[in-house]
Amino acid sequence: MRLTVIGTGYLGLTHAVCMADLGHDVMGLDLDADKVERARNGEAPFFEPGLEPLLRKNLDAGRLRFTTSFAEAADFGGVHFLCVGTPEAAGGRADLRHVHAAADALAPHLWRPCLVVGKSTVPVGTARNLAARIRERAPAGDSTDVAWNPEFLREGFAVEDSFAPDRLVFGVTSQRSAALLRHVYAKLLDGGTPALVMDLETAELVKVSANAFLATKISFINAMAEICEKAGADVVCLADALARDGRIGGRFLSPGLGFGGGCLPKDIRAFRSTARELGAESVANLLGEVDAINLGRRSRVTELARDVVGGCLAGRRLAVLGLAFKPESDDVRDSPSLHVCGQLLREGALVSVHDPVAMGNAALVQPALRYASSVSEAAADADAVLHLTEWTDYRAIDPAMLAAVVAQRNMIDARGALDEAAWRSAGWAFRVLGRRGHPAGPPVRAAEELSRRR
Ligand code: NAD
Repeated sequence: MRLTVIGTGYLGLTHAVCMADLGHDVMGLDLDADKVERARNGEAPFFEPGLEPLLRKNLDAGRLRFTTSFAEAADFGGVHFLCVGTPEAAGGRADLRHVHAAADALAPHLWRPCLVVGKSTVPVGTARNLAARIRERAPAGDSTDVAWNPEFLREGFAVEDSFAPDRLVFGVTSQRSAALLRHVYAKLLDGGTPALVMDLETAELVKVSANAFLATKISFINAMAEICEKAGADVVCLADALARDGRIGGRFLSPGLGFGGGCLPKDIRAFRSTARELGAESVANLLGEVDAINLGRRSRVTELARDVVGGCLAGRRLAVLGLAFKPESDDVRDSPSLHVCGQLLREGALVSVHDPVAMGNAALVQPALRYASSVSEAAADADAVLHLTEWTDYRAIDPAMLAAVVAQRNMIDARGALDEAAWRSAGWAFRVLGRRGHPAGPPVRAAEELSRRR
């Protein structure tokens, strides 16, 4: 089939490449001429494991091309995927300007019957409005249809997730649109991926409620971290015990610095704003609390940093490991780590940072940090080291090696991912969010003794 993908950012470029790899002829369109040029040259403008080789493979096979022209895109194919950004606007609402602009630019060129398929994350009701907007402007009028096919891929696993999604969601208004989407995704459906067909509104809500659920699970365990700290309990043990309950499961149950990135935070705020507008107060209240708990974790890390350096951050040297909002990504949109860095800078700390791939992007938004080319360079003379994004490389750091370069052996592991015993035995004072700071290691033994005594 001949498909177009409008908006070739994280989602759109991945979708275009994966659709081409499934055998379709794909044209990607973006307003950003530089992005288009780089894509034409086989270069992804962001870090995503496995994407670039697949981009080059499909360019070479002639199944993939890129343009900035809506006329060319409209002429090229009959199914147009809309993958433009929906950033956060004032008051947490979703900013739909790009969605509307893309639809308005495409519609006047739609002379033939076609299907516009939204993949962007949007507030419920957007798809139906967009369908009316496109039909008004398209020469083909009522023979243009709109469907919503929300995307659930995770950055860092985008290619893998595109080829093996847990499910495909088709929000449609006609059997014809559902059949077209089945045709587009035939290879995945043949491979056993279920397709769930529903109305437009439910499809839009599936995406935001999935994100709301995941965010709630993360904020739940982080709320438990708060009470563990106050009660002298250990949230890591608690999370492990909860995770072993099959009804709960361990995914999205790691206590720590919470969620960030270009999706979860803005999506739950936009969902909250829609819920308020629709009068669904329980959803709005729940999501407000989830967001507040999440942001509270960032302030808690700053508080811990202040605590370990003796009460005042001004003039103290801090090393931050990890800047991306999560490992395996160079995305720093709403990065918890960068947010903490901003708080540390505001309190007068001197902050050296390191990240395996996200330093270029971070420098664009936070130029006041000192960007170090290695972990030891970042940690040189530091009064405390903060582990804020859990890259695998950081688990392999030798605590004794790092001890030799810092001024004081203070480690704050805000992701709970480092080997506490190893760091302690190299003489480090080790703090984990959700533990009051047990100098002799995790309190598992104490708990075991208690149960024996009982
Ligand atoms: P992004 O900012 O990386 O990409 C958006 C792209 O759209 C940019 O390249 C931009 O130049 C282009 N664009 C903007 N206006 C345009 C227009 N009028 N015409 C053509 N192109 C235009 O954003 P993203 O992360 O890819 O997210 C896109 C959407 O997908 C959002 O709604 C997001 O919530 C959703 N989503 C993202 C992910 C993810 O992991 N990034 C996952 C699932 C869903």
